[in-house]
Amino acid sequence: MNVEEIIYSLYKNNNSSEEELLFLIQNIDKNNMKLLIDKADEVRRRTYKNKVYIRGLIEISNYCKKNCMYCGIRRDNTKACRYRLTKEEILECARRGNDLGYKTFVLQGGEDPYYTDEIMVDIISSLKKEFPNNAITLSLGEKSHDSYKAFFDAGADRYLLRHETASKKLYEDIHPGEKFGDRINCLKDLKEIGYQTGAGFMVGIPNQTDQDLVNDLIFLKEFQPAMCGIGPFISHKDTPFNNYENGGLDKTITILAITRLLLPQVLLPSTTALSSIDPKGRELGIKAGCNVIMPNLSPMSQRKKYSLYDNKAYILDEDAEYRKMIDKNISEFGFKVEESRGDNPNFM
Ligand code: SAH
Ligand code: SF4
Repeated sequence: MNVEEIIYSLYKNNNSSEEELLFLIQNIDKNNMKLLIDKADEVRRRTYKNKVYIRGLIEISNYCKKNCMYCGIRRDNTKACRYRLTKEEILECARRGNDLGYKTFVLQGGEDPYYTDEIMVDIISSLKKEFPNNAITLSLGEKSHDSYKAFFDAGADRYLLRHETASKKLYEDIHPGEKFGDRINCLKDLKEIGYQTGAGFMVGIPNQTDQDLVNDLIFLKEFQPAMCGIGPFISHKDTPFNNYENGGLDKTITILAITRLLLPQVLLPSTTALSSIDPKGRELGIKAGCNVIMPNLSPMSQRKKYSLYDNKAYILDEDAEYRKMIDKNISEFGFKVEESRGDNPNFM
């Protein structure tokens, strides 16, 4: 086996064997990383040209009933200062975002029982009523089939639920009391209901092996998500993983580029976590095949509290200024911000 051959075959077939993927991840060097990135860029351009889609992220609550070992807003973190947004506050964020050209709102939060189905349906339908041409993405964790269906019927278009890791043992080690099968069933429910569904994972989770990453890539290829969120693990000081190293920049970029080759049409964000480990993270992600960014629209007064990991990038940038900065930034490295809903082509 040889790294270049594997890259060319991935590029040609949009597929690869487990052995080849493992060999690629373990043997790629600076030179053939450039080849991998160039090929990922080329494949992205076939579907999306040089367009980068923007999504306005509204972090609706940092209360969470789960206890994920890596996450700063986990239930047992008594140091987290909790908040939740009302419907009116969420609508205010959306209005600000809409004025700035955001055609997708992403409502993300911890698994907060305060938001009953009834409350969520009211929030979603109010957003849809005021912004009928905008897409709504939810990222609120695991729910029943009935809840997902109710949100979809109320107008939600997309749902982000990272699988976190496709290795059952690792999954269950980092999610105390949770079952891997439940997560996968949620993803299947979302897809079956008709959502543009997003899977994804972290690179560099404590004790994650290269084989675990291969499992993630194989899972993606099989599941065929419409969107895929991949970012480095970043430690948070008030979690059990506080002493572990962050996921690496090159490794994350490699995995993103491979994902683009495996899933040519996937919507692939260059995540805030990637920007948080390196000031050039966003740019490098986009060059390697990412085509989405998700700027923050949460109320300034609450932003610091939605702390999943330490040293989160861009949290205190003012929205209008930041929006201009994005345009400038993205065009400087040869891409163009696209102000449309940016649906996956299979859902248009
Ligand atoms: N509660 C929902 C959505 C909010 S968390 C859920 O868990 O699905 C959104 C994502 O943040 C998670 O899927 C996880 O992959 C990521 N995340 C959480 N803690 C992180 C950390 N310490 N480093 C990097 N990403 C993290
Ligand atoms: Fe809650 Fe999501 Fe954080 Fe897990 S990752 S503790 S579910 S907010």
